[in-house]
Formats: sequence, structure tokens, C-alpha cells
Amino acid sequence: MTVLVVGSVALDSVETPFGKADDVLGGSATFFSAAASHLTPVQLVGVVGSDYPMDKLRPLVDRGVDLGGLEQAEGESFRWRGRYRHDLNSAETLETRLGVFSHFRPKIPEAFRNAPFVFLANIDPRLQLEVLKQVSRPKLVACDTMNFWIESRRPDLIELLGHVDLITLNDGEARQLTETSNLVKAARWLLERGPTHVIIKKGEHGAFMFTKDSVFFAPAYPLEDVFDPTGAGDSFAGGFIGYLARSGDLSEASLRRAVIYGSAMGSFAVERFSIGRLMEIGSADIARRVGEFHRLVSFEAELPG
Ligand code: AMP
Repeated sequence: MTVLVVGSVALDSVETPFGKADDVLGGSATFFSAAASHLTPVQLVGVVGSDYPMDKLRPLVDRGVDLGGLEQAEGESFRWRGRYRHDLNSAETLETRLGVFSHFRPKIPEAFRNAPFVFLANIDPRLQLEVLKQVSRPKLVACDTMNFWIESRRPDLIELLGHVDLITLNDGEARQLTETSNLVKAARWLLERGPTHVIIKKGEHGAFMFTKDSVFFAPAYPLEDVFDPTGAGDSFAGGFIGYLARSGDLSEASLRRAVIYGSAMGSFAVERFSIGRLMEIGSADIARRVGEFHRLVSFEAELPG
């Protein structure tokens, strides 16, 4: 089943302890599509400026990403500049230039409006809300966000919570949005405002999935070399939703497996700058890594009785 993603398509400039990259392919919708397209067809809606190197998106098209909803507008593309120091878990934003994003109004093409899975990747929550007015009854709507929007658009984000089935965000963002330091309480706060599932990612310390009456935890894959964490969250979301769309199964067991697919895709994303590694891997690599996750968490319990 198809996934519709609406989010940023950016040019990123990133500095990590291991190197620097300037104006490389980035953005929440880009990483999401790169990951999800390994599992299911993807339809992308977004905007780039007249300076965007459109030919660099070719590998995504070759992977089956439909760019029929990607507008090219007059002006500068969205640019994000960030730095990671030795703690690779937290990005320091040095600059965000909205460019053509500041006047963007998402227009969902007719052919995309019936997508059964919708991912509202990190963009202005007002635009995320506009997207929902244009789609017809998806099976699952999920969203993501970040500190930039929590600071500038908190009321819109809270409104958005009432219209989504699932939200993914990292621990810092969960604390900031809910104004609660304890993550279990933060998850409950979010669940009370709409979504039935809340996923809180903790970088190299794994990810929690909360519902009103259950908690599931998956570790992050213990990689020896993390090169650039940019896009790990969006790739997690791509693996997660991509798996659900492929299986069409929204049972709790399937959602838990989806968390593992998300963790696997996030772990590939951080092995190179931009979407480099995600464009290299194939289904055998993904299956192998999911198998490694299985071994990582398997143990035989000695429970009384
Ligand atoms: P993450 O998966 O959280 O590491 O997201 C990284 C991507 O988010 C980068 O490729 C950026 O281009 C993009 N990004 C950064 N800031 C924003 C923002 N304010 N709105 C939308 N996308 C952003």
C-alpha cells in the first residue's frame, strides 16, 4: 500500500566529528522516502527552490518514489545547517533558512489523495493540518515535529495531535512539547490529546512505543561507527510506516515489528552523510539487520510458575 509523505526537501550542511558536507540532499521527506521506498511505494509532496539540483533526486525516483507532488518554486531552497559534537545524540542547529518553504501551501495531487498511509514529516504544523483537509480517510496518519516548530507553533501542534493516530518525536522534543521531564508522563500527556500510539526516540539509546495500556522498547542497533546522525529520525519513520504499509497489518504485533524496521533503517542512515547509505542497501541488508535485532533482544526468561 502507498504512503504519502509531506515534508521538507532540503539542502543540508552538516559538521560531525568525522567530516563536513555542504549543500547535500536532506530534509525530512527526503530521508523518509529514501527509507520507506525499500518497503513500499511512496508519494512525496514538498517544495524546492530554483537552485535545487533536481538530478540528485533521480535515485529516489529509481527507487519508486513518485515526485509528482514536488513543486519547484522561484527562490531559494530550504536550507538547514547543523553540527554534532561528540554527543552524536543531539544536533545543534546553526541555521534554518526556510526559503521557498515560507510561502508554501501543500497541494496534494488528485492521484495522491487516497493514500492509505500518510506521514506528516517535520514541517510547519499549519501545513501539516492543511494536508489533512485534502486527503480522504487514510488507514493511518502519523506525524513528526522538532524544537523549531514547538517553539514557534505550539498551539497548532497541539491541534494537530487531535487529528493523528501516531506521533514520533525524540526525547528532548517530547519533554519540550509536553513541558514534562518524565518520558512516561510525557507520553501520557500526548496520548490524552489524540494519538493512540506515541513513539519517543532516544537516539543511540533506542525507542519507546507507548499506548494507553502498553509500552514497547527497542534498542538502537549497536553500530561501531556512527558517521552522521542527520536523518535518523526520518529514516526511522520511513522504516516504521513503510513496514506497516507493506504488511497492511495494524495489529499491536505488527506495530512492534515496525519499530524494529524503523530502528534498522535509522541505523543505516547514520552510516554516511545524506541518503548515501540508504541508496546503497538492498532487501538482503535490511533482512540481515532485522535478524540481528532479533538476536540482540532475544533471551529466555525464567519466570516463576
Ligand atoms: P532528523 O531525522 O531529525 O535528523 O532530521 C534531519 C532533517 O530535518 C534534515 O535533513 C533537515 O533538513 C530537516 N530539518 C531541519 N530543521 C527543519 C525544520 N525546521 N523543518 C523541517 N525540516 C527540518
